[in-house]
Amino acid sequence: MAGTDRQLGDFIKGRLLFVEEYCREHGLDKDQVMEVLQREARRLAGSPEKAEFLDQKVFRGVVLSSAYFPEWVDGVFLEAMTIALKGAGAPLFTTSSKRPCVTFEAGRFNAHRQADSVFKVFFQGKKPEEWLRSTFLAIYRQCYGEEVASKFVVDEVGPQHFRVRMDNRGLGKASRMDCSTGVGYLFGALEKLGAKDILVTHDKCGADPGMGFQICIYEVTWK
Ligand SMILES: [Zn+2]
Repeated sequence: MAGTDRQLGDFIKGRLLFVEEYCREHGLDKDQVMEVLQREARRLAGSPEKAEFLDQKVFRGVVLSSAYFPEWVDGVFLEAMTIALKGAGAPLFTTSSKRPCVTFEAGRFNAHRQADSVFKVFFQGKKPEEWLRSTFLAIYRQCYGEEVASKFVVDEVGPQHFRVRMDNRGLGKASRMDCSTGVGYLFGALEKLGAKDILVTHDKCGADPGMGFQICIYEVTWK
């Protein structure tokens, strides 16, 4: 198994459920949306082998939470999903929970879903502070492995103010879309933990080629 395979099954499963929910809420035809999504994903995959992989393992198979996928799958999925739901040219990422986009909503949805199902035990009875101090990292470790989790630091800046730092160097999954799902995931998790007036911002992004540094910093505040 290649070193870049991760246990992303649950995230991919969440993406498919998110598309269904989004279509329901916005009155979109799910079959039509999935047709566009699959076509765009095959195109974005960039090679016949990868397109075939998507067909066999994602679109025609049953996606198990425990399944392992190469890191490129989620990036392709996120971009194809944005185009299918909002059209070509829609923003692919955001740097603030004040400006939600499809990838943000997908991360938020996954946090809500995981808190109610597969990672329920990681959310139950936790205060936002407790969850940020240790649980977030435990979930991350579960999904991406120890090596990726070790690049992750959570600082307590003050009351109801945390700073999450992520060293993305050398990670295949690093992208501004991936970071945007992180903004949504943190936002959605804090919603589930009962926090109010949540604000998650990600102005310093290591995946942004124009920024000149490679550490991603998320600021998380709430009341
Ligand atoms: Zn980033």
